[in-house]
Amino acid sequence: MDSPAAKPPAPLLIHGLTRDELARVCREAGAQPYRARQVWDWLYRKRVSEWDAMTNLPPALRAALSGRCLLRPAEALRVEGRPGHTRKILAGLADGEQVEEVLIPAARRRTVCVSSQVGCRFRCAFCASGQAGFRRNLEAGEMVGQALLAARLLEAAPTHVVFMGVGEPLDNYDAVLRAVRILNDADGLAVGARRITISTCGLVPGIARLAGEGLQVELSVSLHAPTDALRAELMPVNRRYPLAVLLEACRDYTARTGRIVTFEYTLIRGCNDAREHARALAALLKGLACRVNLIPLSPVAEFGYAASDAAAARLFTETLSRAGINATLRISRGASLDAACGQLRARSRSQPLPGGPRR
Ligand code: SAH
Repeated sequence: MDSPAAKPPAPLLIHGLTRDELARVCREAGAQPYRARQVWDWLYRKRVSEWDAMTNLPPALRAALSGRCLLRPAEALRVEGRPGHTRKILAGLADGEQVEEVLIPAARRRTVCVSSQVGCRFRCAFCASGQAGFRRNLEAGEMVGQALLAARLLEAAPTHVVFMGVGEPLDNYDAVLRAVRILNDADGLAVGARRITISTCGLVPGIARLAGEGLQVELSVSLHAPTDALRAELMPVNRRYPLAVLLEACRDYTARTGRIVTFEYTLIRGCNDAREHARALAALLKGLACRVNLIPLSPVAEFGYAASDAAAARLFTETLSRAGINATLRISRGASLDAACGQLRARSRSQPLPGGPRR
């Protein structure tokens, strides 16, 4: 920590500590090594939200930890949706910022979609997240905290975590990887690496770095267009990392990790959903080990386009399939909840919520 000595140290987010780091904090508080394991258990197995609930810890350790660490990195300010269905949580952070997360239950799966930043720098034309600009990176503990809010609501740990909420995870690389390792810890939430997906708008250096982590996380790349011209219009990041460079990084990711890359393609009526687009996409992806998820656009006020109609979406999917591309048309389960990126936060910013998060 390099903060000036005059300032009191900022509280540590305890959910942002790896097990070794937690052991060090406990040791510094004068506790025996086995105490760290007990704390970890309270954090991730019993998932308590009060220090006093950690009943098997000596009061002195509880006091030392509560004096130094924050136990609630995020609070649920609002929950939308019914139990058993897609639900959305607006999470308030300690500094008053807000992010959203989405819970998607399915047969035997509990998927939580978490945010990695407050806002986003990349300004994809169809995405609500970038429209309000970038505010800050999330800390690892705030991302793990989102998974814990979900676990509390579901009364069970999530089985899958996808970094597809607000923000660009590879633009907050270190904190995201730290969160991945904490989520993945076998004695904690134990979300398997293959059940963690990092979704990117195409930051090539981040993809290359991720390939070298020795982790088996799923990589999802938001493609949305088969040509550089159209992609650059929809996603300005394409000017920095054009398709040829991006696809090369994806090929390399598969070669080094053995994981197949998923491409996300949002179907936008009269923009990227013609048969020629499907054919161009098939040609672009030919020979690449990949799958394609086709998702009808979730309308965003400032982007004057609509979702493709059902017939166009089906035709697009079939054209890809016939060309030998593994393509799946997804129904947007969050559509009725405004679950597209940034929409809940965008709405809450125009209708301020009463109260803020508590420490
Ligand atoms: N920044 C990352 C992750 C967050 S976005 C990325 O770009 O992948 C998660 C996914 O939602 C991305 O595929 C993104 O392109 C898509 N998305 C954003 N706005 C959308 C909208 N209005 N309708 C459908 N999908 C959208």
